[in-house]
Amino acid sequence: MNMVLLGPPGAGKGTQADMLIKAYGLLHISTGAMLREAVKEGGELGAEIETYMNSGELVPDDIVTKAVTERMNKPDAADGVILDGYPRTRIQAESLDKALREENKSLDTVLYFKTSEEVAVYRLSGRRVCEKCGKNYHVVNIPPRVENICDKCNVKLIQREDDSPETVKNRLAVYGKRTKDLIVYYNEKGLLNEVDGDVQAKKLFDEIDILLKKKGLIENDDSN
Ligand code: ADP
Ligand code: ZN
Repeated sequence: MNMVLLGPPGAGKGTQADMLIKAYGLLHISTGAMLREAVKEGGELGAEIETYMNSGELVPDDIVTKAVTERMNKPDAADGVILDGYPRTRIQAESLDKALREENKSLDTVLYFKTSEEVAVYRLSGRRVCEKCGKNYHVVNIPPRVENICDKCNVKLIQREDDSPETVKNRLAVYGKRTKDLIVYYNEKGLLNEVDGDVQAKKLFDEIDILLKKKGLIENDDSN
């Protein structure tokens, strides 16, 4: 099954993607994570990517699309992927359609995380991450055992550069301008399923699980 997670920054797409891969064993492709890796690797391209990300702008379509399609054509993507953070523009959505077609694959479903701006801002501004293992925390919702220290790595948590208030504002504006009309795009294709991004993660996961089983996209395992 190939699935796209759509919704504003702070909708909880990454959290759900983690829960979904644990449950169904699909490959998680997060363009945000891939781009952060590219920044870490450095070089000219890394530096270029970093400028866009830190200001909350989108990284150019061709850079992101190349990275995603290369990843999707690897053997471990054969059984299906969860795309988190891609596509974000109409051009990316069309590139994805084309890339899937060329591999005789198709997109099975799109989950749209309808999320209020208040909740999104609250989650992003309170988010802290471990630089070492990448785990996300939230100062109130998901606090570490020891304040500001990663449970697993025992190192200090940081706030992502692009989670600063101004950049968050711009990311939400960019979402409204560039990404939001993908809701129309996928609705017209009959692929869109709206879920409530404001509710707590476990509750949302249960809702998604029921939805995917109802659609026959994953097996209904009665043993659990
Ligand atoms: P969020 O979804 O919370 O904004 P991500 O970690 O998914 O966070 O993305 C962080 C940044 O990476 C974005 O603000 C953007 O600059 C860049 N990015 C991620 N995915 C894409 C994409 N598909 N196209 C262009 N830029 C992207
Ligand atoms: Zn850690």
